[in-house]
Amino acid sequence: MNGIHPAEPDGTRERSAPGPALLHRSLNARPYKVTSAKGLYLTLSDGRTIMDACGGAAVACLGHGNEEVLQAVSRQMSTGVSYVHSLTYTTDAAEELAHHLVDGPQGASRFGLERAYFVNSGSEAMDAALKLARQYFFELGQTTTTTTARSRFVSRKQSYHGTTVGAMNVSSNLPRKVPYACFQLDNVSWVTPAYAYQYSNWQSGETEEEFTRRLVDELDAHFREIGPESVVAFVAEPLVGATSGCTPAPKGYFQGVRRVCDKYGILLILDEVMCGMGRTGTFFAFEQEGIVPDLVTVGKGLGGGYAPVAGVLIHKKIVDALRSGTSSFNHGHTYQAHPVGCAATLAVQKILKRDGLVENVARLGRILYPLLLHTFRAAKYVGDIRGRGLFWGIEFVRDKATRESFPPRACFGARFQAMTFDLGVAVYPGSSTVDGTRGDHAILSPPYNVTEDELRKIVEVMKLAYDRLEKEVDGESWDEKAANGHAKPY
Ligand SMILES: *Cc1c(COP(=O)(O)O)cnc(C)c1O
Repeated sequence: MNGIHPAEPDGTRERSAPGPALLHRSLNARPYKVTSAKGLYLTLSDGRTIMDACGGAAVACLGHGNEEVLQAVSRQMSTGVSYVHSLTYTTDAAEELAHHLVDGPQGASRFGLERAYFVNSGSEAMDAALKLARQYFFELGQTTTTTTARSRFVSRKQSYHGTTVGAMNVSSNLPRKVPYACFQLDNVSWVTPAYAYQYSNWQSGETEEEFTRRLVDELDAHFREIGPESVVAFVAEPLVGATSGCTPAPKGYFQGVRRVCDKYGILLILDEVMCGMGRTGTFFAFEQEGIVPDLVTVGKGLGGGYAPVAGVLIHKKIVDALRSGTSSFNHGHTYQAHPVGCAATLAVQKILKRDGLVENVARLGRILYPLLLHTFRAAKYVGDIRGRGLFWGIEFVRDKATRESFPPRACFGARFQAMTFDLGVAVYPGSSTVDGTRGDHAILSPPYNVTEDELRKIVEVMKLAYDRLEKEVDGESWDEKAANGHAKPY
C-alpha cells in the first residue's frame, strides 16, 4: 500500500537470481512478508511483531487466525462443495449467509432491504449496484423515452468506490485514476463532499446546519441542471473511508439527500464497503443517519478478510421492479456466492452477533474518541480527529489556524505510517486527503474485539511516532527543498 516503506527493494529479475515473479504494488519496494498472524498481531519474516491497528484497510474486523472461521471453511470444503455454478446450483452456505444478513435480528429486512447478492470484492459490489440501479429503471420502462433517460450517476468529489472500470467511473479519488482518464464515461458528475473540516465555510462562521443546507441545495440544483429524469442514482459513502479519512457527514445531510432523491425518483446507493458491517458501532453506518438507501454495498468487514467477499443488499422496491419485468438481474460472476467464501463469512457474522461485537465497537468508540482527543488535540500538526465506532481518521495540517495542508512532497501521512510501523503498530496511511493532491491523514481501524488496554497501547505508540515526526518535520523547509529525498507515495 502507499506509504509502506519497504523492508527491501523489489529488485529486477535476472535469470541467475530471479527477483519476485509477483507484481507488487511498486516495482521499487517489496512489501513485508507476513509468516503468521493471530488476533491483533502479525509476525513478519524478520521476526518482528506488528500490532495490526487498521486491519489492512479496515478489513480484519475479528482479528487474524480465528479458529472458528478456520473450522467453518474446513467443514465446507470437506463436504466436497468448494465450488458450484450459481446458474444451476445453490448451497446452504450462501442461503444461510443471505438469511443471516437479511432476516437475522440485526438484519437488513428491518429497512426493507430484502435480498443479498454476493460477489468477491467491493468494486464488484459497486458495479453490481450501479447495474441494478440502471436495470430498475429499465424494468419500469423509464429508459426508453430518450437516449439520456435514467443514464447518469451523481457522486461526490473526494470519494472512492472501487477500482474496476465501472466503480472507478463513479469514484473521484484522483490519484487512483491518473493513467485512465480515457476510461471516464461522461455520464458521471460530482458534487461537493460532505467534509466539514475542509469544505465548510468555517472562516465565515458557517454552522453545521448551514453547511448541510448548502450541500443539499447544491445537489438539488445539480439534479435540475442535468435533468433529474436523466439520473439513475446518487452514490455516496456514509462515512468517507480511505480518500479523506473517516469523514462523517454533517447532521441532517443524508436526510436532505434522501429527500432530494425521492423528489425526483432518483435512487440512493450507499457504499458501505469500508464503513459498514459494524465498523461505526451500528450494523450499517446509515442507521445513524436516519435514512434507508435503495441499495447498499458491503465488503471489507463482511468476511473480515477470511474470504474475498462483498455484497449488495437490495431494497424490496428494486426486487419488485425486477419481478414485474424480466425477472432476472442481467449480471453475473463465475464466483458469485462462492460456497467457501460464504461459509467463512457466515462464521464471521455469527461470531459478531454471538459476542456482541458491534455493541463492543460502539462502547470502545466512546472510549477511543476522548483518548484520541486528549492525546492529539494539542499537537501542532493535528488538524482534525473524526470518525465513529472503531473507525477514526486523524487529518494532519501544516497550519491549524488556516487548515492548510503540507505540500505533497512532505509525505507527512506516509511518514507517519512508516514511523508508527517502525514502532510496531500498523495504521492505514492516506495522502491527497483534501482535494486529490494535498492533504495527509492516518486511519485507525482495529478489530472489533480489540481490548481497551490494546487501544491505549496503540494510541501511545501513535503519539510517540507523531512526536518523532513532528521534530523531524520542524527541521525541514518545505518551500525550498524536497523533503529528505522522500518520494511521493504515488
Ligand atoms: C475498498 C473500497 C471499495 C472497493 O473494494 P475492493 O474490495 O477493494 O474492490 C469500494 N468502496 C469503498 C468505500 C472502499 O473503501
